[in-house]
Amino acid sequence: MRTKKCLTDGCENVGGTRGLCLACYRRLFMRVKRGKATWKQLVADGLAGRAQVYRHETKAQRRRIEMGSRELKVQWERFRKNAMIENRMREREGLPPKYPEFA
Ligand SMILES: [Zn+2]
Repeated sequence: MRTKKCLTDGCENVGGTRGLCLACYRRLFMRVKRGKATWKQLVADGLAGRAQVYRHETKAQRRRIEMGSRELKVQWERFRKNAMIENRMREREGLPPKYPEFA
């Protein structure tokens, strides 16, 4: 990853949280805390960057979503198989399929 300089004009430190160095972040953080500014306004004015979700969090979240969709797929397959079996059983008895979408 490329290291970026602090967003503050004239500041030569390396940027971190919200694109700011620790000193600048603290300075703006105090302004926000005292109600003299909002992060939204500071971002709009180009004085701070957006809050970013930490890399390890997004990775964990993505993994959770992947696991969830895999589980859904398995459940869906199971449901489809059972529906088809049930349709066939009803067909044998001369009944209309319970799940026409799988008939
Ligand atoms: Zn700075």
